[in-house]
Amino acid sequence: MTSSKITVGSTEIISLTDVEMQFPWAAFFPTVPMNELEEYHELYPGSWGDVGFKTDAGCYSVRSDGMTILIDTGLGPGPHAMLGGATGDLVNDMRSKGVPPDDVDVVLHTHLHPDHVGWNMSGDEPTFPNARYYAPQADWDFFKAALAANPQMEQVIPLNDMGRLELYDGEITITPEVSTLATPGHTPGHSSVLVNSDGEKLLIAGDLAHHPAQVDRPEWSAAFDMDGAQASATRKKMLDRLLEEGHLAAFCHFPGDGFGHIAKSGGKRVFQAL
Ligand SMILES: [Zn+2]
Repeated sequence: MTSSKITVGSTEIISLTDVEMQFPWAAFFPTVPMNELEEYHELYPGSWGDVGFKTDAGCYSVRSDGMTILIDTGLGPGPHAMLGGATGDLVNDMRSKGVPPDDVDVVLHTHLHPDHVGWNMSGDEPTFPNARYYAPQADWDFFKAALAANPQMEQVIPLNDMGRLELYDGEITITPEVSTLATPGHTPGHSSVLVNSDGEKLLIAGDLAHHPAQVDRPEWSAAFDMDGAQASATRKKMLDRLLEEGHLAAFCHFPGDGFGHIAKSGGKRVFQAL
């Protein structure tokens, strides 16, 4: 793992962490044979915890064209009962890395799952007071229609009531260097963020994959993938493209900062962390 800050052309990207999470393997990868998964243990020890799949609610900030863009907002302050009372630390982590909440001009959501919207609001006020928030229209429609099962929408709906939420569909441009790309399957509106600056590219892939073993086995879907078949197809297509083009990628739930390249090594397709 290197420093949490990288540059892509004239942009600067910082990896941010909210809270560590673990899920028993049977709950996380219910259809994946454990003996096959174990083949990847040595390659990616950071994704194994004592309970099962180990990850964190990761986010990124992008400085581009004079703007600060926050990609996702973690699980939130908590305490989180499902994590034994753990609390989120995103805002402290942002401050310590030079990205105070007031600096954020845009909050761009890859999707609207609980571990990606948790710090949107602080009580009745937006945590990022100067930001416009962007969320995928298809996720808004889906989760808003099932509010009882999606309490995380309490972090999203007030922003719409305040006129601070923009719903987007497919490709939108935030700055000349930062745009979105539809990568559906994990959720109906799941999107990735493409940073393209001075000939260098980074795909901030959100939850396109959760575990780095999926780079070699894109057909393996996490239980959180709402449409497993579509998620697998999208994952395969995007990973093929990343391998072919050699661009940098960033995954919210991969170990460490989540920055790396897709490469071929030892007969496998692997994630090579920066
Ligand atoms: Zn997630």
